[in-house]
Amino acid sequence: MSESPSESPTGLSGPGATAGTIAFLGLGHMGGPMAVNLVNAGYTVTGFDVVPAALETARAHGIATAGTAAGAVAGAAVVLTMLPSGKHLLDAYRGTPGQPGQPAQPGLLDIASPGTLFLDCSTINVDEAREAAGLAVAAGHRAVDAPVSGGVVGAEAGTLTFMVGAHPEDFEAVKPMLGVMGRRVVHCGEHGAGQAAKICNNMILGVSMIAVSEAFVLGEKLGLTHQALFDVASAASGQCWALTTNCPVPGPVPTSPANRDYQPGFAGALMAKDLKLALNALESTGVAARLGPLAAEIYGSFAAEGGAGRDFSGIITDIRDKSEH
Ligand code: NAD
Repeated sequence: MSESPSESPTGLSGPGATAGTIAFLGLGHMGGPMAVNLVNAGYTVTGFDVVPAALETARAHGIATAGTAAGAVAGAAVVLTMLPSGKHLLDAYRGTPGQPGQPAQPGLLDIASPGTLFLDCSTINVDEAREAAGLAVAAGHRAVDAPVSGGVVGAEAGTLTFMVGAHPEDFEAVKPMLGVMGRRVVHCGEHGAGQAAKICNNMILGVSMIAVSEAFVLGEKLGLTHQALFDVASAASGQCWALTTNCPVPGPVPTSPANRDYQPGFAGALMAKDLKLALNALESTGVAARLGPLAAEIYGSFAAEGGAGRDFSGIITDIRDKSEH
């Protein structure tokens, strides 16, 4: 999927592509290793993060850094963001007024050269993604939302899945560089469609993990062994990823986080975040969903009550603990 660095060492390829450097903003758990993979593939990257330690780690991994976001963005062909939330993204795009002890920050959309491609890989609300893309286009730029699944392990290994919302020509332009950081790159539709695909998928995942966990606890109460329920359900209509890959009880799937005391994996905090984004979208679209909001509430409590850093399949211990004995 990736372009050959020898053909185009610093640019992007594909119809409508631009050449030049990539400003990479947000060098945290995900962004740091993603930026390293781009550099290793021959792209020219200038990184920036508001946390000095993240900048130092990036430099130690061979990423050139700028002292400010504006310094990274000036003259860049692509502005790739991997930030905690939509508010962080919109503040960065629009700029923020000065506050006591905090200088005003200029808006990146104003600083960037005309026609810059703004590529956001953060997980944010669909409405925020559409707003950010609208602002970028109104300022004379191009916009792509491309949230990921695959976690830190996938970011390090370059095996992420990218769900992309973009005009077709912009999708073609970013596809080679996304192919360097990931294994699957799926064009889901226009602006916001990448975020929409991500939260719809994760709503299925959250709901199905709760269902699988409740079934295992019910099986325990009814005297079924975990292996017996697994052997039946994994080959029957209860089959799903939450059961067959991320099985919430130890034993049947040796690689699932349940076998290592629920070390993530996919952390409860991230599932709670993604379900909140799904809940926001359910509310703004008026869908008569019942399980999605309930899953958001269940994982919100799980994360707040000690599960934030545990794999989301640890929800089974909550269900077991709260059951009558
Ligand atoms: P993180 O908190 O480790 O990294 C975010 C980085 O952004 C931090 O280093 C922070 O200092 C930096 N930052 C904040 N504001 C900034 C600004 N204005 N300019 C530059 N840098 C700024 O988070 P993460 O785990 O890397 O996740 C990033 C995004 O990816 C989130 O939206 C998350 O939901 C999503 N995501 C994470 C995972 C995962 O497993 N961690 C998986 C899929 C998606």
